[in-house]
Parts: sequence; C-alpha cells; structure tokens
Amino acid sequence: MIYTDTRDNNIKVDLKTAVMGGMNEKTGGLYIPVEFPKLDSSLLNKDPSPSFRDIAFNMAKPYVEGEIPDDVLAEIIQDAYPFSPKVVPLDSISYALELFHGPTCAFKDFGARFMARTMSYFNRNESTPLHILVATSGDTGSAVGSAFHNVPGLDVTILYPEGKISPLQEKQLSTFTGNVRALKVRGTFDDCQRLVKTAFTDASLREKLRLSSANSINISRLLPQSFYYMYAALLVRNRAAMDNKIHDPAIIMVVPSGNFGNLTSGLIAKEMGAPIAGFVAATNTNRTIPDWIATGEYNARPSVETFANAMDVGAPSNYERIKAMYTLDQVREQFASYWLNNDGILDAIRSCNTKTGYIMDPHGAIGWQAWDDIRSGAMKNLMDGVKNDFTKPGLTPNIPSWGQKVVEKKAVGVLLETASPAKFGEIVTDAIGKEPPIPARLEEVMRLPDRAIPMENDYNLFKDWLLANL
Ligand SMILES: *Cc1c(COP(=O)(O)O)cnc(C)c1O
Repeated sequence: MIYTDTRDNNIKVDLKTAVMGGMNEKTGGLYIPVEFPKLDSSLLNKDPSPSFRDIAFNMAKPYVEGEIPDDVLAEIIQDAYPFSPKVVPLDSISYALELFHGPTCAFKDFGARFMARTMSYFNRNESTPLHILVATSGDTGSAVGSAFHNVPGLDVTILYPEGKISPLQEKQLSTFTGNVRALKVRGTFDDCQRLVKTAFTDASLREKLRLSSANSINISRLLPQSFYYMYAALLVRNRAAMDNKIHDPAIIMVVPSGNFGNLTSGLIAKEMGAPIAGFVAATNTNRTIPDWIATGEYNARPSVETFANAMDVGAPSNYERIKAMYTLDQVREQFASYWLNNDGILDAIRSCNTKTGYIMDPHGAIGWQAWDDIRSGAMKNLMDGVKNDFTKPGLTPNIPSWGQKVVEKKAVGVLLETASPAKFGEIVTDAIGKEPPIPARLEEVMRLPDRAIPMENDYNLFKDWLLANL
C-alpha cells in the first residue's frame, strides 16, 4: 500500500515510513492510504459473520502488503488481540459495542497494541532500542504503556502531570516494570507535552537516542480500529432480523469523539464495504466538529474540562484526515452530530440505566443520549423543518442521508462504548447512585506498587535523566 499526505498528495511513502515517522514533519500533514480496498465479498456476506481476528487479518492485509509477510501479520493479530469487542443488545434497535475488554479497559487498546507490534517488526534489524516518549493526561498513556510492555526492541517513557489525573489512571500509568516507566512531572499536561516536543527537536539528544512518538495521529493506530466497526456491522446486520424484524436495517454507528480518530476508523471500515449507513459524531462541550458541521466554519479552540475527559479536545487532529477524504457536503450526508454539557452527561448515564439497565461510562453516555434523541423524534423534527439552536446541547441542523430511515423505523443504532464505566466510577455513582462493577484487572492494578519517578518541569533535568537512564 502507498500512503500519501493530507497536505500534499504528491507525497508517497510506504507503511514503514508512515508508522515510524508518525506524521510528516516537513508538511505538518498526516499520512493516509491512497485507497481503501473492499473486503472480500465472501467475508462480507458470510453468515454467521466472521470472527474478529479473521476480519482483522483480512482488513489489515492490503495495508501491510509487501512490507509485512502474512505469517507475521497473523502473529501480530493473534498477539495483539487475545480479547474481542462485544456486541450487547440494549433494546430491540440499539446495541452497545463494548470496546473495553482489553487490558486497560478502553478502546485505545485496539490501536495501541497493533501499533506496538508493527513498530517492533519494523525495528527488528536495529541494534539499539527505539525510545517512545509519550505525554499523557490519562487514557493514552496507559494504553500505550500496556501495549508496548515487553514488546522486543521498544522502550517507553510516559510523562504525566502529577496530581492532575485520577488515582486509577495514575496507578495504570505508574505500575509498569521493565521496558515501560512513568515520570510524574511537577507541572501541567502542557508542560509534559513541551518536554517531549523539546526532546524531539534536540539534535544532541537524538544523536544518542533513537526517539519516536506513539500518539493517536499514527496511521497504525487508526487502521486497526476499523476492524471492530466491520465486525459489529456484519454481526448486527445478520442478527437484526431476529432482534427487531427489520430486514436489512440502516446501521448507524454512534461514536463518542475527541480527536476523531475512532470516527475516522469507522469511515475507513465503511469505505472497505462495512454495511454502515452513517455515523453520529457525539462530543462533549468541546464541540469544534459539531460547530463545523452546523456552520461550515472550522474553528479550533482551547479545550475545556468535562466529565468525558478523554474527549476534551478543542483542535481534533483527525479533522485533517476527514477533510482530505470528503467534502463538507459529503460529511453532512454521512454524519449527524450532537453534543452535551456535563449536566447532560449525568442525565444521559441515568437515562440509559433507567431505560435499559445498562451502565454507560460518561463518554458512551453521550452517544446513548444522541441516539435516544434521534430515534425518539429529534430527527423527525429536523426533517419537519423545526429549526434547532446548535449552540445549545443536542443535534446539529444538517439532515444526513439516513435520516429518513430513522423516521421510518428502519434503522438500528450501534453505540460505541469506549471505556469501562468502572474507570469513571465517581461520576457514574453520582449519576445513578450505585457503583459500577470493577473488572478484576482494574482491581489488580490498584494493588500494585507505584513506581513513578518524580521529575521537575525543567528540560535540562529531563534530558539528563534520559541520558543517564535509557
Ligand atoms: C480517547 C477516547 C475517546 C475519543 O476518541 P478519539 O479517537 O480521540 O475521538 C473517547 N472515549 C474514550 C474513553 C477515550 O479514551
């Protein structure tokens, strides 16, 4: 597969360059494949639908062709995914797509584990380790730390702002051993990011250490997230007749979004033939994308803290990819978009629990509320010409191509549940008055000794530490 650049489509690189480079430093653009090959129709039409790993292997194959042999790819998939996504019916036309059955209980495990193994393969002939530096304000760091733990040839240093992340998140970051460690920085998340960025531009450091990043703009995190969209769409299509007697329903993927990596992966799955009619882009108060869809103007802004903190992004990095793939009109045809403030998030967790018995985390809950509003009249109102105010929580005014199907009750919603509610126990308990059950692997991590290394917010001290310890 050839990869090009969102800012210059004359640029052509291979997968290794795209993965090891992360982004194109020269143009500031992001890498995307030049095409999205259709999945083989024997798999698309299979009933019962294929296993997650079968889908993963066959979807990944064209993107690694010529660079990673089939037997190595099979191993990467096997090793990355000892767990699967789960499709759980909430009511006759709504499903939760649970993406939190990996080691860190959030969907980022799917992308990070594939990235780690792909990087390790591309690094296999080097005599020195590749040092990954990550600044994190929460979920990304633990997914990356866990994904790279004990992966040969790779070494990870995570920087997080001391005292500014939840105790559980801190435990998830600071209890690794071996090739992964965490530095607790006396500063903010922005300070952590600055230390990492300065390191990347420090030629004298880079002479001594091979450095790389692992953030969500990397194409090797995006591609594997498309696997679960395909898996869920095929499964739901095949079981819909049984669940709700809708023949060939319009399948709507409802995606709680921050940097819009997850949603971009959904677009890739759709391009590859997944039976997906469209998407709902659900955000918190950081509504840069809903505003763009509503007004046509894109205004990045500083992020605002919310209860769905993994989506506190004011300048979503994958806007760049979405814009390279589609015109604004095409986006408006495919997406409904919807946003909620903190009160709305608490209400949404409560409403889902009351109506279905299911406990959503604060991110997934925004998706639930979006879908529940859309199917209970919000889409019909839009189509009847009722003008809503997009600066208030709710749906943006564009009517997607699948709107009519919702009104005719020929659509089903698949709500991506991006994290276990146990990771946000306090907020969930505030909303529903009871604690969500805690998965054993989260309970275990709370008992491990804290190994975080204190670090001043000072580049020279940070650099000295890297040179002395890596
Ligand atoms: C990262 C994250 C998101 C947002 O995903 P994007 O790909 O950045 O849009 C949503 N929910 C949870 C729990 C996350 O960790």
